Amino acid sequence: MSPFAEAVQSYRELSPLNVWRHGSAAEQRAIFGCWLLLLLLCVALGVATVKWNWSGMPVNMGGVTAYVTVYPPLPICLLLTLTLGWWWGAIPAYCSTLVLALYAGMPLHWALLFACANPLGFSILAIGYRAMVMRRDLRQLTSLLFYIQLCFVASIFGSSGALIWSYTSHMAAGAQLPVWQGWWLGSFLQSVLIGGPAMAILWPRVDRWQLLRQKLMRKRRGGSRRSVLRMLATVAAGVLMYGFVTIRLAEADAAHAPEIFRQTVWIFYWVFAAIIIFIAFFGYQLFSHWQDSTDGLLSEMQRMNIDLERLATTDALTGLLNRRAADGHLDAEWHRARRSGHVSSLVLLDIDHFKQVNDKYGHPGGDAALRMLASCIRSVMREVDVAARYGGEEFLVVLPETGREGAFVFAERLRERVAGCEINHDNRLFRCQVSLGIAVSDKHEASFEHWVRRADEAMYRAKQGGRNQAVMGV
Ligand code: GH3
Ligand code: MG
Ligand code: MG
Repeated sequence: MSPFAEAVQSYRELSPLNVWRHGSAAEQRAIFGCWLLLLLLCVALGVATVKWNWSGMPVNMGGVTAYVTVYPPLPICLLLTLTLGWWWGAIPAYCSTLVLALYAGMPLHWALLFACANPLGFSILAIGYRAMVMRRDLRQLTSLLFYIQLCFVASIFGSSGALIWSYTSHMAAGAQLPVWQGWWLGSFLQSVLIGGPAMAILWPRVDRWQLLRQKLMRKRRGGSRRSVLRMLATVAAGVLMYGFVTIRLAEADAAHAPEIFRQTVWIFYWVFAAIIIFIAFFGYQLFSHWQDSTDGLLSEMQRMNIDLERLATTDALTGLLNRRAADGHLDAEWHRARRSGHVSSLVLLDIDHFKQVNDKYGHPGGDAALRMLASCIRSVMREVDVAARYGGEEFLVVLPETGREGAFVFAERLRERVAGCEINHDNRLFRCQVSLGIAVSDKHEASFEHWVRRADEAMYRAKQGGRNQAVMGV
Protein backbone atom coordinates (compact mmCIF):
# COMPACT_ATOMS: atom_id res chain seq x y z
CA MET A 1 0.00 0.00 0.00
CA SER A 2 1.40 3.43 -0.92
CA PRO A 3 2.09 5.90 1.93
CA PHE A 4 -0.73 8.06 0.60
CA ALA A 5 -3.26 5.22 0.59
CA GLU A 6 -2.02 4.25 4.04
CA ALA A 7 -2.60 7.76 5.35
CA VAL A 8 -6.07 7.67 3.85
CA GLN A 9 -6.94 4.30 5.36
CA SER A 10 -5.28 4.70 8.77
CA TYR A 11 -7.57 4.53 11.76
CA ARG A 12 -9.31 7.84 12.38
CA GLU A 13 -11.61 8.65 15.26
CA LEU A 14 -14.01 11.55 15.54
CA SER A 15 -12.77 13.73 18.37
CA PRO A 16 -15.63 15.26 20.43
CA LEU A 17 -13.26 18.05 21.44
CA ASN A 18 -12.45 18.88 17.81
CA VAL A 19 -16.17 18.80 16.90
CA TRP A 20 -16.75 21.26 19.74
CA ARG A 21 -13.86 23.52 18.68
CA HIS A 22 -13.87 23.36 14.88
CA GLY A 23 -17.29 21.98 13.89
CA SER A 24 -20.02 24.24 12.49
CA ALA A 25 -23.15 24.74 14.60
CA ALA A 26 -25.14 22.49 12.24
CA GLU A 27 -22.48 19.77 12.47
CA GLN A 28 -22.42 19.94 16.26
CA ARG A 29 -26.21 19.69 16.42
CA ALA A 30 -26.31 16.78 13.98
CA ILE A 31 -23.44 14.81 15.56
CA PHE A 32 -24.19 15.29 19.26
CA GLY A 33 -28.00 15.28 18.72
CA CYS A 34 -28.06 12.03 16.68
CA TRP A 35 -25.65 10.38 19.06
CA LEU A 36 -27.83 11.24 22.10
CA LEU A 37 -30.93 9.97 20.30
CA LEU A 38 -29.15 6.71 19.48
CA LEU A 39 -28.04 6.42 23.11
CA LEU A 40 -31.65 6.72 24.29
CA LEU A 41 -32.78 4.23 21.63
CA CYS A 42 -30.15 1.75 22.83
CA VAL A 43 -31.32 2.10 26.45
CA ALA A 44 -34.93 1.48 25.38
CA LEU A 45 -33.99 -1.53 23.24
CA GLY A 46 -31.86 -2.93 26.09
CA VAL A 47 -34.85 -2.87 28.45
CA ALA A 48 -36.99 -4.45 25.70
CA THR A 49 -34.51 -7.33 25.45
CA VAL A 50 -35.15 -8.23 29.11
CA LYS A 51 -38.87 -7.54 28.97
CA TRP A 52 -39.47 -9.83 25.99
CA ASN A 53 -36.69 -12.23 26.91
CA TRP A 54 -34.64 -12.20 23.72
CA SER A 55 -31.74 -13.90 25.40
CA GLY A 56 -30.79 -17.49 24.66
CA MET A 57 -33.39 -18.24 21.98
CA PRO A 58 -32.92 -21.79 20.67
CA VAL A 59 -32.10 -22.03 16.95
CA ASN A 60 -31.90 -25.38 15.22
CA MET A 61 -28.86 -25.51 12.94
CA GLY A 62 -28.85 -28.81 11.03
CA GLY A 63 -29.78 -30.97 13.99
CA VAL A 64 -27.63 -29.04 16.52
CA THR A 65 -29.43 -26.59 18.76
CA ALA A 66 -27.61 -23.29 19.21
CA TYR A 67 -28.80 -20.53 21.50
CA VAL A 68 -28.80 -17.05 20.09
CA THR A 69 -29.29 -13.84 22.06
CA VAL A 70 -30.72 -10.95 20.11
CA TYR A 71 -29.51 -7.64 21.47
CA PRO A 72 -30.39 -4.73 19.12
CA PRO A 73 -28.21 -2.08 20.85
CA LEU A 74 -25.17 -4.16 19.86
CA PRO A 75 -25.18 -3.52 16.08
CA ILE A 76 -25.99 0.15 16.69
CA CYS A 77 -23.09 0.63 19.10
CA LEU A 78 -20.83 -1.50 16.91
CA LEU A 79 -21.47 0.79 13.94
CA LEU A 80 -20.83 3.85 16.12
CA THR A 81 -17.50 2.30 17.20
CA LEU A 82 -16.45 1.40 13.67
CA THR A 83 -17.45 4.69 12.05
CA LEU A 84 -16.81 7.32 14.75
CA GLY A 85 -14.55 5.67 17.31
CA TRP A 86 -14.52 3.58 20.47
CA TRP A 87 -15.94 6.13 22.93
CA TRP A 88 -18.89 6.88 20.62
CA GLY A 89 -19.98 3.21 20.72
CA ALA A 90 -18.79 2.28 24.20
CA ILE A 91 -20.80 4.92 26.11
CA PRO A 92 -24.26 3.99 24.70
CA ALA A 93 -23.35 0.29 25.03
CA TYR A 94 -22.41 0.81 28.68
CA CYS A 95 -25.54 2.87 29.47
CA SER A 96 -27.97 0.45 27.81
CA THR A 97 -26.49 -2.60 29.52
CA LEU A 98 -26.39 -0.85 32.89
CA VAL A 99 -30.06 0.18 32.69
CA LEU A 100 -31.05 -3.30 31.46
CA ALA A 101 -29.22 -4.96 34.36
CA LEU A 102 -30.77 -2.68 36.96
CA TYR A 103 -34.19 -3.23 35.36
CA ALA A 104 -33.65 -7.00 35.63
CA GLY A 105 -32.87 -6.57 39.34
CA MET A 106 -29.08 -7.04 39.33
CA PRO A 107 -27.32 -5.45 42.34
CA LEU A 108 -25.74 -2.08 41.42
CA HIS A 109 -22.11 -3.11 41.99
CA TRP A 110 -22.52 -6.15 39.74
CA ALA A 111 -24.43 -4.08 37.16
CA LEU A 112 -21.58 -1.53 36.97
CA LEU A 113 -19.15 -4.34 36.17
CA PHE A 114 -21.57 -6.24 33.93
CA ALA A 115 -22.04 -3.14 31.72
CA CYS A 116 -18.33 -3.19 30.79
CA ALA A 117 -18.79 -6.35 28.69
CA ASN A 118 -19.77 -4.80 25.35
CA PRO A 119 -17.34 -1.83 25.58
CA LEU A 120 -14.65 -4.47 26.23
CA GLY A 121 -15.70 -6.31 23.06
CA PHE A 122 -15.63 -3.07 21.05
CA SER A 123 -12.15 -2.29 22.34
CA ILE A 124 -10.98 -5.40 20.44
CA LEU A 125 -12.30 -3.89 17.21
CA ALA A 126 -10.60 -0.57 17.96
CA ILE A 127 -7.30 -2.31 18.85
CA GLY A 128 -7.49 -4.36 15.64
CA TYR A 129 -8.11 -1.40 13.36
CA ARG A 130 -5.45 0.68 15.12
CA ALA A 131 -2.90 -2.09 14.59
CA MET A 132 -3.63 -2.90 10.94
CA VAL A 133 -4.16 -0.46 8.14
CA MET A 134 -7.33 -2.07 6.80
CA ARG A 135 -10.30 -0.84 4.79
CA ARG A 136 -13.55 -0.79 6.68
CA ASP A 137 -15.94 -1.15 3.74
CA LEU A 138 -15.39 -4.96 3.77
CA ARG A 139 -15.49 -5.10 -0.03
CA GLN A 140 -12.23 -7.05 -0.28
CA LEU A 141 -11.75 -10.60 0.93
CA THR A 142 -8.88 -9.64 3.28
CA SER A 143 -10.80 -6.80 4.91
CA LEU A 144 -13.87 -9.06 5.25
CA LEU A 145 -11.90 -11.92 6.84
CA PHE A 146 -10.13 -9.48 9.16
CA TYR A 147 -13.49 -8.07 10.23
CA ILE A 148 -15.02 -11.53 10.83
CA GLN A 149 -12.03 -12.63 12.89
CA LEU A 150 -12.10 -9.47 14.98
CA CYS A 151 -15.87 -9.81 15.49
CA PHE A 152 -15.40 -13.35 16.76
CA VAL A 153 -12.79 -12.29 19.33
CA ALA A 154 -14.81 -9.19 20.24
CA SER A 155 -17.89 -11.41 20.82
CA ILE A 156 -15.91 -13.71 23.10
CA PHE A 157 -14.70 -10.78 25.19
CA GLY A 158 -18.12 -9.12 25.09
CA SER A 159 -19.82 -12.32 26.23
CA SER A 160 -17.87 -12.31 29.51
CA GLY A 161 -20.94 -10.47 30.82
CA ALA A 162 -22.93 -13.70 30.45
CA LEU A 163 -20.90 -15.27 33.25
CA ILE A 164 -21.81 -12.41 35.61
CA TRP A 165 -25.43 -12.67 34.50
CA SER A 166 -25.54 -16.42 35.20
CA TYR A 167 -23.81 -15.96 38.56
CA THR A 168 -26.04 -13.14 39.82
CA SER A 169 -29.23 -14.90 38.74
CA HIS A 170 -28.08 -18.05 40.63
CA MET A 171 -28.35 -20.30 37.58
CA ALA A 172 -27.54 -23.97 37.81
CA ALA A 173 -24.15 -24.85 36.33
CA GLY A 174 -25.82 -26.76 33.48
CA ALA A 175 -27.94 -23.79 32.43
CA GLN A 176 -24.95 -21.47 32.09
CA LEU A 177 -23.65 -22.87 28.81
CA PRO A 178 -26.68 -21.93 26.65
CA VAL A 179 -26.71 -18.40 28.11
CA TRP A 180 -23.02 -17.87 27.39
CA GLN A 181 -23.19 -19.57 24.01
CA GLY A 182 -26.25 -17.55 23.06
CA TRP A 183 -24.49 -14.39 24.07
CA TRP A 184 -21.31 -14.77 22.04
CA LEU A 185 -22.99 -16.44 19.06
CA GLY A 186 -25.75 -13.81 19.02
CA SER A 187 -23.32 -10.94 19.19
CA PHE A 188 -21.05 -12.55 16.57
CA LEU A 189 -23.94 -13.18 14.13
CA GLN A 190 -25.37 -9.69 14.63
CA SER A 191 -21.92 -8.13 14.12
CA VAL A 192 -21.31 -10.07 10.90
CA LEU A 193 -24.80 -10.26 9.39
CA ILE A 194 -26.05 -6.78 10.33
CA GLY A 195 -22.84 -4.83 11.07
CA GLY A 196 -21.01 -6.18 7.99
CA PRO A 197 -23.49 -5.18 5.27
CA ALA A 198 -24.21 -1.89 7.08
CA MET A 199 -20.47 -1.07 7.03
CA ALA A 200 -20.24 -1.97 3.33
CA ILE A 201 -22.97 0.57 2.60
CA LEU A 202 -22.07 3.25 5.17
CA TRP A 203 -18.27 3.25 5.15
CA PRO A 204 -17.57 4.84 1.72
CA ARG A 205 -19.78 7.80 2.70
CA VAL A 206 -18.34 8.08 6.21
CA ASP A 207 -14.80 7.79 4.81
CA ARG A 208 -15.40 10.59 2.30
CA TRP A 209 -16.88 12.79 5.02
CA GLN A 210 -13.95 12.07 7.37
CA LEU A 211 -11.45 13.00 4.65
CA LEU A 212 -13.25 16.27 4.01
CA ARG A 213 -13.50 17.07 7.72
CA GLN A 214 -10.00 16.03 8.82
CA LYS A 215 -10.02 18.85 11.35
CA LEU A 216 -12.65 17.05 13.41
CA MET A 217 -10.76 13.77 13.49
CA ARG A 218 -8.13 12.43 15.82
CA LYS A 219 -5.72 10.49 13.65
CA ARG A 220 -3.83 7.39 14.58
CA ARG A 221 -1.28 5.65 12.42
CA GLY A 222 -1.67 1.92 12.08
CA GLY A 223 1.09 -0.66 12.25
CA SER A 224 3.11 0.36 15.28
CA ARG A 225 4.89 -2.53 16.93
CA ARG A 226 3.08 -2.12 20.22
CA SER A 227 -0.40 -1.98 18.69
CA VAL A 228 0.26 -5.09 16.58
CA LEU A 229 1.54 -6.95 19.63
CA ARG A 230 -1.53 -5.84 21.60
CA MET A 231 -3.83 -7.03 18.82
CA LEU A 232 -2.16 -10.44 18.48
CA ALA A 233 -2.15 -10.92 22.26
CA THR A 234 -5.86 -10.06 22.60
CA VAL A 235 -6.84 -12.25 19.65
CA ALA A 236 -4.88 -15.18 21.09
CA ALA A 237 -6.29 -14.56 24.60
CA GLY A 238 -9.83 -14.34 23.18
CA VAL A 239 -9.58 -17.64 21.33
CA LEU A 240 -8.04 -19.38 24.35
CA MET A 241 -10.64 -17.94 26.69
CA TYR A 242 -13.35 -19.18 24.35
CA GLY A 243 -12.06 -22.74 24.41
CA PHE A 244 -11.50 -22.71 28.15
CA VAL A 245 -14.94 -21.38 29.11
CA THR A 246 -16.73 -23.69 26.66
CA ILE A 247 -15.02 -26.81 28.00
CA ARG A 248 -15.40 -25.74 31.65
CA LEU A 249 -19.12 -25.07 31.32
CA ALA A 250 -19.74 -28.21 29.27
CA GLU A 251 -17.83 -30.21 31.86
CA ALA A 252 -20.08 -28.91 34.62
CA ASP A 253 -23.08 -30.09 32.64
CA ALA A 254 -21.62 -33.46 31.65
CA ALA A 255 -20.41 -34.97 34.87
CA HIS A 256 -21.43 -38.34 33.54
CA ALA A 257 -19.09 -38.13 30.53
CA PRO A 258 -16.31 -40.75 30.60
CA GLU A 259 -13.07 -39.61 32.21
CA ILE A 260 -11.06 -40.51 29.10
CA PHE A 261 -13.22 -38.18 26.99
CA ARG A 262 -12.75 -35.28 29.43
CA GLN A 263 -9.01 -35.81 29.54
CA THR A 264 -8.79 -35.92 25.76
CA VAL A 265 -10.72 -32.67 25.48
CA TRP A 266 -8.31 -30.96 27.86
CA ILE A 267 -5.25 -32.35 26.10
CA PHE A 268 -6.66 -31.10 22.84
CA TYR A 269 -7.26 -27.72 24.45
CA TRP A 270 -3.66 -27.29 25.67
CA VAL A 271 -2.20 -28.42 22.33
CA PHE A 272 -4.55 -26.00 20.61
CA ALA A 273 -3.47 -23.25 23.04
CA ALA A 274 0.21 -23.92 22.29
CA ILE A 275 -0.47 -23.70 18.55
CA ILE A 276 -2.37 -20.41 18.92
CA ILE A 277 0.43 -18.90 21.02
CA PHE A 278 3.00 -20.09 18.49
CA ILE A 279 1.02 -18.58 15.57
CA ALA A 280 0.69 -15.25 17.41
CA PHE A 281 4.41 -15.24 18.28
CA PHE A 282 5.39 -16.22 14.73
CA GLY A 283 3.09 -13.53 13.32
CA TYR A 284 4.68 -10.93 15.56
CA GLN A 285 8.21 -12.01 14.57
CA LEU A 286 7.23 -11.79 10.92
CA PHE A 287 5.78 -8.33 11.42
CA SER A 288 8.86 -7.13 13.37
CA HIS A 289 11.15 -8.44 10.64
CA TRP A 290 9.09 -6.72 7.95
CA GLN A 291 9.03 -3.48 9.94
CA ASP A 292 12.80 -3.60 10.55
CA SER A 293 13.51 -3.96 6.84
CA THR A 294 11.01 -1.19 6.02
CA ASP A 295 12.59 1.07 8.66
CA GLY A 296 16.05 0.29 7.24
CA LEU A 297 14.89 1.16 3.75
CA LEU A 298 13.27 4.36 4.96
CA SER A 299 16.37 5.58 6.80
CA GLU A 300 18.52 4.72 3.75
CA MET A 301 16.15 6.77 1.60
CA GLN A 302 16.29 9.66 4.06
CA ARG A 303 20.09 9.54 4.03
CA MET A 304 20.10 9.52 0.23
CA ASN A 305 17.70 12.44 0.16
CA ILE A 306 20.00 14.42 2.46
CA ASP A 307 22.97 13.57 0.19
CA LEU A 308 21.00 14.60 -2.89
CA GLU A 309 19.92 17.83 -1.23
CA ARG A 310 23.56 18.55 -0.36
CA LEU A 311 24.71 17.75 -3.91
CA ALA A 312 22.02 19.98 -5.38
CA THR A 313 23.07 22.97 -3.27
CA THR A 314 26.85 22.60 -3.05
CA ASP A 315 29.61 23.52 -5.48
CA ALA A 316 31.76 20.43 -6.00
CA LEU A 317 35.09 22.23 -6.48
CA THR A 318 35.05 24.55 -3.46
CA GLY A 319 32.44 23.00 -1.14
CA LEU A 320 30.71 26.37 -0.86
CA LEU A 321 27.03 26.82 -1.76
CA ASN A 322 26.24 26.96 -5.47
CA ARG A 323 24.36 29.72 -7.24
CA ARG A 324 20.94 28.05 -6.86
CA ALA A 325 21.30 27.81 -3.09
CA ALA A 326 22.82 31.30 -2.91
CA ASP A 327 19.77 32.78 -4.66
CA GLY A 328 17.52 31.07 -2.12
CA HIS A 329 19.52 32.54 0.79
CA LEU A 330 19.64 35.97 -0.83
CA ASP A 331 15.89 36.01 -1.35
CA ALA A 332 15.25 34.93 2.26
CA GLU A 333 17.75 37.47 3.65
CA TRP A 334 16.31 40.23 1.49
CA HIS A 335 12.77 39.51 2.80
CA ARG A 336 14.01 39.26 6.38
CA ALA A 337 15.95 42.54 6.18
CA ARG A 338 12.93 44.27 4.66
CA ARG A 339 10.56 43.02 7.37
CA SER A 340 12.84 43.57 10.36
CA GLY A 341 14.08 46.97 9.19
CA HIS A 342 17.71 45.92 9.78
CA VAL A 343 20.28 46.25 7.01
CA SER A 344 22.30 43.39 5.59
CA SER A 345 25.20 43.53 3.17
CA LEU A 346 26.33 41.62 0.17
CA VAL A 347 29.90 41.30 -1.12
CA LEU A 348 30.59 40.09 -4.66
CA LEU A 349 34.19 39.31 -5.61
CA ASP A 350 36.00 38.24 -8.76
CA ILE A 351 39.61 37.11 -9.25
CA ASP A 352 41.73 39.63 -11.14
CA HIS A 353 43.22 38.51 -14.44
CA PHE A 354 42.17 34.97 -13.86
CA LYS A 355 42.49 34.10 -17.55
CA GLN A 356 46.25 34.68 -17.14
CA VAL A 357 46.35 32.28 -14.16
CA ASN A 358 44.70 29.64 -16.32
CA ASP A 359 47.01 30.36 -19.20
CA LYS A 360 50.13 30.22 -17.08
CA TYR A 361 49.38 27.36 -14.68
CA GLY A 362 46.75 25.47 -16.63
CA HIS A 363 43.18 24.75 -15.66
CA PRO A 364 44.19 22.65 -12.61
CA GLY A 365 46.28 25.60 -11.40
CA GLY A 366 43.21 27.84 -11.80
CA ASP A 367 41.16 25.32 -9.83
CA ALA A 368 43.72 25.37 -7.02
CA ALA A 369 43.36 29.16 -6.91
CA LEU A 370 39.57 28.84 -6.66
CA ARG A 371 39.90 26.38 -3.76
CA MET A 372 42.34 28.69 -1.99
CA LEU A 373 39.95 31.62 -2.40
CA ALA A 374 37.09 29.54 -0.90
CA SER A 375 39.20 28.68 2.15
CA CYS A 376 40.19 32.36 2.56
CA ILE A 377 36.50 33.32 2.55
CA ARG A 378 35.71 30.61 5.13
CA SER A 379 38.49 31.81 7.41
CA VAL A 380 37.31 35.43 7.35
CA MET A 381 33.52 35.11 7.52
CA ARG A 382 31.39 34.66 10.66
CA GLU A 383 29.14 31.66 11.34
CA VAL A 384 25.98 33.48 10.36
CA ASP A 385 27.43 34.67 7.04
CA VAL A 386 26.66 32.69 3.89
CA ALA A 387 29.28 32.20 1.16
CA ALA A 388 28.70 30.83 -2.34
CA ARG A 389 30.46 30.36 -5.64
CA TYR A 390 28.23 32.55 -7.74
CA GLY A 391 29.81 32.09 -11.18
CA GLY A 392 33.02 30.68 -12.73
CA GLU A 393 35.46 32.64 -10.58
CA GLU A 394 32.98 34.96 -8.92
CA PHE A 395 32.07 34.55 -5.28
CA LEU A 396 29.39 36.06 -3.10
CA VAL A 397 29.13 36.52 0.67
CA VAL A 398 25.91 37.54 2.44
CA LEU A 399 26.50 39.38 5.73
CA PRO A 400 23.26 39.46 7.76
CA GLU A 401 22.64 42.52 9.94
CA THR A 402 25.83 44.19 8.76
CA GLY A 403 25.90 47.85 7.64
CA ARG A 404 28.26 49.82 5.36
CA GLU A 405 31.21 50.06 7.74
CA GLY A 406 31.08 46.41 8.82
CA ALA A 407 30.79 45.20 5.25
CA PHE A 408 33.70 47.39 4.12
CA VAL A 409 35.92 46.13 6.95
CA PHE A 410 35.01 42.54 5.99
CA ALA A 411 35.73 43.16 2.27
CA GLU A 412 39.11 44.75 2.99
CA ARG A 413 40.11 42.00 5.38
CA LEU A 414 39.19 39.38 2.78
CA ARG A 415 41.05 41.24 0.03
CA GLU A 416 44.20 41.39 2.15
CA ARG A 417 43.89 37.75 3.20
CA VAL A 418 43.63 36.63 -0.45
CA ALA A 419 46.51 38.83 -1.57
CA GLY A 420 48.67 37.38 1.22
CA CYS A 421 47.92 33.72 0.45
CA GLU A 422 50.30 31.65 -1.61
CA ILE A 423 48.96 28.99 -3.93
CA ASN A 424 51.11 25.95 -4.41
CA HIS A 425 50.46 24.15 -7.67
CA ASP A 426 52.92 21.58 -9.08
CA ASN A 427 55.58 23.02 -6.79
CA ARG A 428 55.09 26.43 -8.37
CA LEU A 429 54.03 29.22 -6.02
CA PHE A 430 51.81 32.10 -7.10
CA ARG A 431 49.35 34.60 -5.65
CA CYS A 432 45.99 36.01 -6.68
CA GLN A 433 44.15 39.23 -6.08
CA VAL A 434 40.46 40.01 -6.00
CA SER A 435 38.19 42.96 -6.74
CA LEU A 436 35.15 43.32 -4.51
CA GLY A 437 31.82 45.13 -4.83
CA ILE A 438 29.69 45.83 -1.73
CA ALA A 439 25.94 46.59 -1.60
CA VAL A 440 23.88 47.33 1.51
CA SER A 441 20.25 46.14 1.42
CA ASP A 442 17.61 48.74 0.65
CA LYS A 443 14.02 48.12 1.71
CA HIS A 444 12.68 50.19 -1.18
CA GLU A 445 14.23 47.86 -3.73
CA ALA A 446 11.87 45.62 -5.73
CA SER A 447 13.75 42.31 -5.39
CA PHE A 448 17.01 40.70 -4.30
CA GLU A 449 18.21 40.70 -7.94
CA HIS A 450 18.50 44.50 -7.76
CA TRP A 451 20.63 44.14 -4.67
CA VAL A 452 22.99 41.76 -6.52
CA ARG A 453 23.10 44.08 -9.53
CA ARG A 454 24.29 47.00 -7.32
CA ALA A 455 27.05 44.80 -5.89
CA ASP A 456 28.01 43.76 -9.43
CA GLU A 457 28.19 47.39 -10.57
CA ALA A 458 30.39 48.23 -7.57
CA MET A 459 32.68 45.33 -8.44
CA TYR A 460 32.88 46.55 -12.04
CA ARG A 461 34.00 49.95 -10.72
CA ALA A 462 36.63 48.21 -8.57
CA LYS A 463 37.99 46.58 -11.75
CA GLN A 464 37.84 49.92 -13.57
CA GLY A 465 39.60 51.63 -10.68
CA GLY A 466 42.68 49.38 -10.97
CA ARG A 467 41.59 46.05 -9.38
CA ASN A 468 42.67 44.60 -5.99
CA GLN A 469 40.25 46.88 -4.14
CA ALA A 470 36.82 46.99 -2.50
CA VAL A 471 34.22 49.50 -3.67
CA MET A 472 31.00 50.45 -1.88
CA GLY A 473 27.95 50.42 -4.15
CA VAL A 474 25.45 53.26 -4.28
P1 GH3 B 1 39.21 40.36 -14.68
O1 GH3 B 1 40.31 40.81 -13.81
O2 GH3 B 1 38.59 41.43 -15.49
O3 GH3 B 1 38.19 39.60 -13.89
O4 GH3 B 1 39.87 39.39 -15.70
P2 GH3 B 1 39.67 37.85 -15.80
O5 GH3 B 1 40.77 37.26 -16.60
O6 GH3 B 1 39.54 37.23 -14.44
O7 GH3 B 1 38.35 37.80 -16.58
P3 GH3 B 1 37.05 37.06 -16.24
O8 GH3 B 1 36.59 37.41 -14.86
O9 GH3 B 1 36.08 37.28 -17.34
O10 GH3 B 1 37.60 35.57 -16.22
C1 GH3 B 1 36.80 34.44 -16.33
C2 GH3 B 1 37.74 33.27 -16.48
O11 GH3 B 1 37.58 32.38 -15.39
C3 GH3 B 1 37.44 32.52 -17.74
C4 GH3 B 1 37.53 31.10 -17.37
O12 GH3 B 1 38.55 30.46 -18.07
C5 GH3 B 1 37.88 31.11 -15.90
N1 GH3 B 1 37.11 30.10 -15.15
C6 GH3 B 1 35.79 30.12 -14.93
N2 GH3 B 1 35.44 29.02 -14.21
C7 GH3 B 1 36.58 28.31 -13.97
C8 GH3 B 1 36.88 27.09 -13.30
O13 GH3 B 1 36.01 26.43 -12.76
N3 GH3 B 1 38.16 26.70 -13.24
C9 GH3 B 1 39.16 27.40 -13.84
N4 GH3 B 1 40.40 26.96 -13.77
N5 GH3 B 1 38.90 28.52 -14.50
C10 GH3 B 1 37.65 29.00 -14.56
MG1 MG C 1 38.12 37.71 -13.13
MG1 MG D 1 34.74 36.86 -13.84
